[in-house]
Amino acid sequence: MSTTEKRDIRALSQQELRGFFVEKGEKPFRGDQVFEWLWHKGAHHFDDMTNLSLALRTLLEEHFSINHIAISRMQQSKDGTIKNAVTLHDDMIVESVLIPTPKRTTACVSSQVGCSLNCQFCATAKLKRMRNLNPDEIFDQVIAINQQSQKYFGRKLSNIVFMGMGEPLMNYNNVIKAIDKITAEKGLQMSPKRITLSTSGIPKMIKKMADDGVKFNLALSLHSAIQEVREKIMPFCSKFPLEDLIESLQYWFEKTGRITTLEYLIWKGINDREEDRNALVDFAKKVPCKVNIITYNSIDEDRFVQAGPVTVKAYVDILEKNRIPVTIRRSRGEDIDAACGQLANKF
Ligand code: SAH
Repeated sequence: MSTTEKRDIRALSQQELRGFFVEKGEKPFRGDQVFEWLWHKGAHHFDDMTNLSLALRTLLEEHFSINHIAISRMQQSKDGTIKNAVTLHDDMIVESVLIPTPKRTTACVSSQVGCSLNCQFCATAKLKRMRNLNPDEIFDQVIAINQQSQKYFGRKLSNIVFMGMGEPLMNYNNVIKAIDKITAEKGLQMSPKRITLSTSGIPKMIKKMADDGVKFNLALSLHSAIQEVREKIMPFCSKFPLEDLIESLQYWFEKTGRITTLEYLIWKGINDREEDRNALVDFAKKVPCKVNIITYNSIDEDRFVQAGPVTVKAYVDILEKNRIPVTIRRSRGEDIDAACGQLANKF
């Protein structure tokens, strides 16, 4: 059988793997073993599956391929952050980032090649969306970063954020399938509490996630709580009025009991006025949340300039005065273009 006729074995469910072995006159538990090799141990070759006989490995080889990612380039920042260029089986490239802190290692993973949204301040948006990542391509980024964490920092990966390239809610089914494998008993066994999905805010999908009973955390890229301003910096938002977004986040809280993290960038002359701050306070009063002020990473767009410390402090003060939890996120990996919004395959 030629390679092109072979199916990617990772498109099969555990049940389908069992079915395959039964059909070949083998015991169903062989399917469980293969599943564990693929999703717990992250095997990339049938020969790695050492508890299967050579005959069974050859059988698998005849019918299936294991399409896996390859880290084609790795760069390390002065602050320890590692950026990976990840080549997919069709030679497309995405990026993923390992962010170390004294206590944690966080993987920042991509969900799409490019992005279909048009946030004016984000480098990924310039690429347009080329395709969705498959569940295994998302999973593989996590496996690779887990290995790097062990190799370079002597500890396991502790957190995952969907803040790489792409809009995860535009590739919802595959993201959910990947998270299932990441959290599964027979998979990576990571707690969903340590996973955060960041979205630019698609109300219908936020409600769907709440209905689906997902167990991970939600972050929303708000950046402005004034519809007119938000539409200027994130033009796709014209389809999603802020009222709908508020309603969906209220629904999320009712269903899941979890608050939303509001991600917020502050730029000179864009959202640095008093009315911008008041609008954020009003928004945050309606939605159970905490605010995370992010530092803007420059992407060669003259329009966007990070606001100064006085403006940032004015935001922090008014939020604190209104008892809204607020934190400031430090930028990491800027020297290698690995920071938020800088992922764009520069080389
Ligand atoms: N599409 C998703 C996830 C990817 S972006 C989302 O929009 O949430 C991850 C975070 O980086 C978002 O909060 C996004 O607004 C932010 N971001 C984008 N460009 C940035 C930049 N140049 N500097 C800092 N943060 C940026």
